[in-house]
Amino acid sequence: MDLSFDPDSLSLPVGHFVGEHFIVADGIIPMHRPSDGEAYAGCPVADADLVDQAVQTAKAALKESNWGGVRPRERLNVLHRWADLIEQEAETLARLEAIASTRPVGQLVDGDIAISAEQIRFFAEFADKEGSDLVPTDDGNLGMIMTEPYGVVGAITPWNFPINMAAWKLGPALAAGNAVVLKPSEMTPFSTIYLAQLAVRAGLPAGLINVVLGDGITTGSAMTGHPEIAKISFTGSTRAGSAIMENIARTGVKPMTLELGGKSPQIVFADADLDKAAAAITASILGNAGQACVAGSRLIVEKEIAARLIDAIKSRMDGVIARPTWDAASQYSPIISERQRQRIDGIVSASVSAGGDCLVGGACMDGPGYFYAPTLVAGVDQNSPAIIEEIFGPVLTLQTFEDEEEALQLADHPSYGLAAGLFTRDLSRAIRLTRRLQAGTVWVNRYGRSRDHILPTGGYKQSGIGKDLGREAFQANRKSKSVLISL
Ligand code: NAD
Repeated sequence: MDLSFDPDSLSLPVGHFVGEHFIVADGIIPMHRPSDGEAYAGCPVADADLVDQAVQTAKAALKESNWGGVRPRERLNVLHRWADLIEQEAETLARLEAIASTRPVGQLVDGDIAISAEQIRFFAEFADKEGSDLVPTDDGNLGMIMTEPYGVVGAITPWNFPINMAAWKLGPALAAGNAVVLKPSEMTPFSTIYLAQLAVRAGLPAGLINVVLGDGITTGSAMTGHPEIAKISFTGSTRAGSAIMENIARTGVKPMTLELGGKSPQIVFADADLDKAAAAITASILGNAGQACVAGSRLIVEKEIAARLIDAIKSRMDGVIARPTWDAASQYSPIISERQRQRIDGIVSASVSAGGDCLVGGACMDGPGYFYAPTLVAGVDQNSPAIIEEIFGPVLTLQTFEDEEEALQLADHPSYGLAAGLFTRDLSRAIRLTRRLQAGTVWVNRYGRSRDHILPTGGYKQSGIGKDLGREAFQANRKSKSVLISL
C-alpha cells in the first residue's frame, strides 16, 4: 500500500464538530505545512459562546443517552466499534494527520493510528471491569467507595501526536461514562475532527464527543474557566499547564490532570550492551525529530565508553531520510513551525557560545520545510541552555560521569521529571538507580513504551500532575463517593 499523497488534493474539515453537526467556520489562525512551509489553511477559533454550546450539547447528550448509567458493556461495545472503524479509515486519517503535523504518513497506519485504536479498546475494557469497592468496617456498618463519572470533561491536546493524544483523552473519559469537549492544538486540528465523526458513525451517541477548534487564550481559557466542565485533562507544555492552573484557580475549583514537558536523561554504564543502547538512544531523540515529551534528550555516559558510544550514535544520526510527511518514504520529521526551528537553533547556538562542542549537526537543513539536522552537543554543564530548556527538537546533549553518584547528580533536572533511561547489565545497580531517579517513568535497557498500555505515564516535579494511560487514566475520569450505611 503506497500511502504517499498530493497535499494540495486533500479537502480539510475546517470547522467545529458539535453534536452530530460539522459547523463550518472561518480559518482565523494561518497554518503552514511543516514539510514545505506552504500556507494551506486557517484554524477557526471557537469563542466562549461556541464552547458553551458544546458543553450544553454534551450535557444534553449525557442526559438523553444515559451514557454514564447504561450497562457498562454497551459502552465497551460502542468503543470497540469505534476502534474498528478507526482501523478501517486509517488511510484517510493518516492523510489528515500527515498534511498538517510532523508525523510521516508511512509511520501512521501501523503506528500512531493502530496504537490509538488499540488504546481505545484497552480503555473500553475498564468500563465493565473496574468499579466501586467495599471497604472493611465493623459488622454494624457497610462501607463502600462508590465511583461515578464527572459528567462533561474538557480535554486539551498538543500538536506532536494529534490522533494519539486525542485517543489518550477520549478513550478513558468515554469508557468511564463521561462526555467530552476536546480542543486539539490549533496547529494540527483536522484529524481530531475526523476521529470524532468516526465515533458517531460507529454508534456513539452524538454529543458525547465535541471538538472545538481554537487557540489557548480564547478557546482553551473558555474551557478551563467553564463552570459546567467538571474536570480538565491537559497535555502540553509546563508553561500552558501553569496558565491553566491559574485560570482554574481564578474561575472556580476543578480537578485536572496535567501531562507536561520533560527533559529526560539516559544514563549509560560501561557494562551496557552498547549497540542496543546506541539504537535506543538515537531512536528516542530522532523519533518525531525529538518532538516527544519523553524524548531522551540528555545522554549521560560513563567516561571510559563515551568515545565508542559517540561513534555509534553519530553513524546512526548520519543519513536520515528527510522527505515531506506526505511521502511514504519519509523517515524523519520536520519541526512543527519555523518559529520553533529558530528557537531550537538559538538554544544550540547559545549552548555552543557557553562552551558546548557541537559534534553532529547544529543547523537547519537545506531545502523546503522546517527540517533541523540531528544534533549532538558535548561539553555542556548543568547551567547550559541545552541542559535546562526543553528543546523539543532532535538535539541530544552529552555529559560524562565517573561514578553512580555523579551520574545521578547529572540526571537530576531542576524542574522536569518525566522519564529516564538506564543502560547497564548490573541488575542491582539498575534497581538501586531506578529507586533514586526522580522521574515518573524509568526504562531499563530500552527507551520507550511497550504496546501494553497498562503502565501509566505522568511526571514528577513540573512534568505534571496525575497520569495518562493505564488503570489510572480510567480512574482519573471518575469521582469517588464514600458511603457508610448503618446496618
Ligand atoms: P502547548 O502547551 O503550547 O499547547 C498544548 C495545548 O494547550 C494546545 O491545544 C494549546 O492551544 C493549548 N493551550 C495553550 N495555552 C493554553 C491556555 N492558557 N489555556 C488552555 N489551553 C491552552 O504545547 P504544544 O507546543 O502543543 O506541545 C508540546 C508540549 O507538550 C511539550 O512541552 C511536550 O513535552 C508536551 N507534551 C507532554 C506529554 C506528556 O504526556 N507529558 C505528551 C505530549 C506533549
